[in-house]
Amino acid sequence: MSWHILGAGSLGSLWATRLARAGLPVRLILRNPQRLAQYQAAGGLSLVENGQSSLHAIPAELPDAPNAIHRLLVACKAYDAEAAIAQVATRLEPRCEMLLLQNGLGSQQAIAERWPRARCLFVSSTEGAYREDDLRVVFAGRGQNWLGDPAAPAPPDWLGELARAGIPATWSTDILARLWRKLALNCAINPLSVLYDCRNGELLRHREELGALCAELTELLAANGQTDAATGLESEVLRVIEATRSNYSSMHQDVRLGRRTEIGYLLGHACATADGLDLRLPRLHALHRRLRDHLQRNGLPMD
Ligand code: NAP
Repeated sequence: MSWHILGAGSLGSLWATRLARAGLPVRLILRNPQRLAQYQAAGGLSLVENGQSSLHAIPAELPDAPNAIHRLLVACKAYDAEAAIAQVATRLEPRCEMLLLQNGLGSQQAIAERWPRARCLFVSSTEGAYREDDLRVVFAGRGQNWLGDPAAPAPPDWLGELARAGIPATWSTDILARLWRKLALNCAINPLSVLYDCRNGELLRHREELGALCAELTELLAANGQTDAATGLESEVLRVIEATRSNYSSMHQDVRLGRRTEIGYLLGHACATADGLDLRLPRLHALHRRLRDHLQRNGLPMD
């Protein structure tokens, strides 16, 4: 069965090249004829790993290609994912599987609701990749992929294919807890790093503010039934800040490069969930407002 990869950006290319290298059937879905022509002229996707570049001539097609889709890896940003799937919706087999690689929460639930017959697997990834050029991706950080299905606990029978392709993958029976924990870490660190325009380590100068945010995030997770994700949040935030002290957060890099952020699926989702639970979290809402104002001043979308 073919792996269709929707979104040949950083993570999509990282998955596609490793699957193809293992001899598994892979097809890329590119957004338009210009992208397809550019891809064909380049002769494939380049993956740079340990300083070595390799070219992978993976078959590529447009969203309106005629062949059916049984397994779709959705590797677009959270704000593009649903619209991108809609473009291939008529090709989806009724019981197809969709692997959703998006950061944050909200996009996965919207997709699962819109395509209820598909099996939606949520993925939380700590692997790192970035685009050196449109079709050239650097594998920047080894990590792990947790896969899970909030609607059904049994793992799919193809996890072995990922192992064969050297893609680290672990089945999680509580993927929402993992995604919520990552979302909370992100909400505590990334917006402040943008607002103070600093590396992660410099946030330790704002311990009181970090502590107050962590307290509200812990309250939110607990009220939302995510008690495991709530446990020890502040200590982990401080550990992550220490471990990444000389790095700029991904949101900081997006804003510096004038790219749209995924704020709507991170802080925006946290605030919307708090509102839905009638929970008063003034620090979190104030942070959301400050960040949105900052994005607006920088000419970037506020969602
Ligand atoms: P990215 O490099 O920006 O790639 C997104 C890709 O989606 C782009 O190639 C874009 O195409 C494509 N796309 C968007 N709409 C499309 C459409 N309608 N049809 C076809 N392709 C479409 O993003 P990324 O860094 O891989 O991130 C993907 C998700 O993974 C995000 O939610 C991110 O937070 C998460 N994540 C990323 C990393 C990482 O290290 N990169 C790590 C963990 C999690 P164009 O090139 O034509 O714009």
